[in-house]
Amino acid sequence: MEQPHEQLCMKLCFRDQHQFRDALLNLHITQARNFKYHRNSDQRIIVECPDKQCQFFMVAAVIKGEKTFVIKKMRLEHTCPSTTETTRVSAKWLAQKYEHLFRSDITTGIQTIIDACMEKYGVDVPKCMAYRAKNIAIEAVLGDHKKQYPRLKDYAQTVMDTNPGSGEVGKFGPYTIMSDRQKGLLNAVNAVFPNCNQRFCLRHLYANFQNVGFRGEDLKKCMDNASYAYNEHKFNIAMNDLRVESEEAWEWLTAIPKKTWARHAFDTNCKTDLVVNNLSEVFNKYILDVRRKPIRTMCDGIKDKQMVRWHRNRESVKAARWDITPHYSEKLEEVGP
Ligand SMILES: [Zn+2]
Repeated sequence: MEQPHEQLCMKLCFRDQHQFRDALLNLHITQARNFKYHRNSDQRIIVECPDKQCQFFMVAAVIKGEKTFVIKKMRLEHTCPSTTETTRVSAKWLAQKYEHLFRSDITTGIQTIIDACMEKYGVDVPKCMAYRAKNIAIEAVLGDHKKQYPRLKDYAQTVMDTNPGSGEVGKFGPYTIMSDRQKGLLNAVNAVFPNCNQRFCLRHLYANFQNVGFRGEDLKKCMDNASYAYNEHKFNIAMNDLRVESEEAWEWLTAIPKKTWARHAFDTNCKTDLVVNNLSEVFNKYILDVRRKPIRTMCDGIKDKQMVRWHRNRESVKAARWDITPHYSEKLEEVGP
């Protein structure tokens, strides 16, 4: 951070007198010198050092017809000796200064504040003041959590406005939703996205398959073959193999719509052939650091990450020789003409 005497300069403007007073407080704490108001009105603020011999002074005044305060005159250097005894460090000031710590980790301890303040300003903050500061900061952060929820409605509205017909069917056609087939989730997806394509993660589907009693390597192999098959012919072979192994297992699996778990029957709207959803687990991990933030901060954080990622992908795809991505063009080359 810049030193206060580098930040403050002649003609510098402040939004209003409160912003000027805040700056004054920061200056005083950084300089380890006190100040007193010589004159303190809505029109003009004059501050000087309590030490009469000291040269420090500042004059700021309002711009006519505005709230803006502007620095008119100043001599920032104190000629008096420094002291931290009469510091104006308060719980409120500390809370403002260190709110960002609680924003990224709500469990931040008071010792962190005490150490940071000692290192930066040489001020020894009493424990009880650090406690009060912590409470004020936590209240501000959690208050933001509550305040951000109503903002979600605005976000949804923006999506609807810029993407007519969205909800289920947007600019990019109907969505495909892949889940791990948990009961609650299954109901929620059916209720919220009744017209969307659904897919089930093969790994989770196999866990269900095992839970109802179908175990063993042979059964698993048949199920894998059926799911990974790229055409109906190979799918049918795998399903027949399964039926030979176990009629009951075949019945159970046949009851689950094949378009939800067998690659050859997937909708072609969604351009991925993955049969497991570890992709979303990766995404989940990727957004871990913003996931605990207030909801709007979280959405913005995810959006920022995605923008960076898409930009990087776009840049790397520039080197591609054709419309097909490098990974899949390599695969096609393996197959040959
Ligand atoms: Zn002074």
